[in-house]
Amino acid sequence: MTQIKLHNTKTRRKEVFTPLNTDNLRMYVCGPTVYDRAHLGNARAVVVFDSLFRLLREVYGADHVTYARNFTDIDDKINARAAATGRDISHITEETIGWYMSDMGALAALEPNIMPRATDYIAQMITMTEDLIAKGHAYAAEGHVLFNVNSCPDYGALSGRSIDDMIAGARVEVAPYKRDPMDFVLWKPSNAQTPGWDSPWGRGRPGWHIECSAMVHDHFGHSFDIHGGGNDLMFPHHENEIAQSSCAHPEGSFAQFWMHNEMLQVEGKKMSKSLGNFFTVRDLLQQKIPGEVIRFVLLSTHYGKPMDWTQKKADNAATTLRKWHELVKNARPASLDGAVLDHVANDLNTPGALMRMHELAKAGDADAVLAAGQFLGFFAADCDWWQPKQASDDVMVRVEALLTARSQAKFKRDFAEADAVRAQLAAAGVEVVDKPGGLSEAVITEAFDPDLLG
Ligand code: AMP
Ligand code: ZN
Repeated sequence: MTQIKLHNTKTRRKEVFTPLNTDNLRMYVCGPTVYDRAHLGNARAVVVFDSLFRLLREVYGADHVTYARNFTDIDDKINARAAATGRDISHITEETIGWYMSDMGALAALEPNIMPRATDYIAQMITMTEDLIAKGHAYAAEGHVLFNVNSCPDYGALSGRSIDDMIAGARVEVAPYKRDPMDFVLWKPSNAQTPGWDSPWGRGRPGWHIECSAMVHDHFGHSFDIHGGGNDLMFPHHENEIAQSSCAHPEGSFAQFWMHNEMLQVEGKKMSKSLGNFFTVRDLLQQKIPGEVIRFVLLSTHYGKPMDWTQKKADNAATTLRKWHELVKNARPASLDGAVLDHVANDLNTPGALMRMHELAKAGDADAVLAAGQFLGFFAADCDWWQPKQASDDVMVRVEALLTARSQAKFKRDFAEADAVRAQLAAAGVEVVDKPGGLSEAVITEAFDPDLLG
């Protein structure tokens, strides 16, 4: 069996990965808070863990791997969006979940086996909170329940910080009902305008961290294999998940492996909603950048390194993929190339796997390229963006008419008009190439959209 090595945040080392139970391998990844379209940074996390999911399925068999990714559908950002728009919370979350599924589908991310929604697990969160109080790790105060970090000797182990460092480094909310400034909320009161559930501490709603602990426990029990997410979640979210779960279930060990993807950046800063420096997956798809090309760009950088999105990377990826599509169009998938698998099994070295695909393509091994590409999530059956664009006859008549209009404008030395016609064609994805002798030719590009011809 192929040996898998993964960088484990818990030990800060690359380690051989051995599942707790090879028949029932379990992976949990923190999913989105659903109030807005996913941005490209969110997509990076999805594509990274999708490639891990594909690797685990390849090595252990699809029936032996369970991948859970949650939807955070209760959150103050969602409440704020509802208040600002006057819309129902459930409409916002339903709509956003639909968008998320279709955008991630466009990136060829496989659906996780389980996609739990936080609001379906309130009872489990209340039970876990009660249990933490009973075990002396949490306390109720003024309608809140707080986790007491001093009751948890290993608090900070994942991110490698001491409690004093955390107090110094984090913006901790100081509240009169807290025993220790680092104590965090398990439950908080809701007013009449805020969603809430009845609980032993009054009507209220859960804190963010308890969601994942409760959902993991419900599906996977007290010990499971891999927990993933972006490294922005390492502290406090993952640290708090560990504290809650290991204190509620000291008989277990929670996640064996912790994996964190590095951030997608914009000019050296994390892409994020709060900084406003984001663009969505939908934005790119609407610019006619195929999902497959976005996926290729995301896999071209190792998940452990920060990366930028650039148009040049997208153009290069499209050129490569177009060549590969041409190569494999009549191929039958071979068995998966060992070197491709070994690269991915070596801490998800997807850039290495893509380099190997280049070699296979150069050698003309279409069957091997097809199998490797399918393993990495390329060459979906319905993927046709790479095929040369064909414009129908009446559309070509319209294009020719515009070309003629432009020539006439040029002849009359009305260059503003000529440029306007060229711009109109360009907007529809038609490039005008001027030939010697005053003739011009229309080139139908990738981005061609006849509806925009005007
Ligand atoms: P959120 O909806 O912000 O809680 O994020 C959902 C997932 O996307 C989490 O796993 C985050 O760590 C991840 N994520 C958020 N921003 C980025 C980014 N700029 N680059 C990579 N992953 C990110
Ligand atoms: Zn989580």
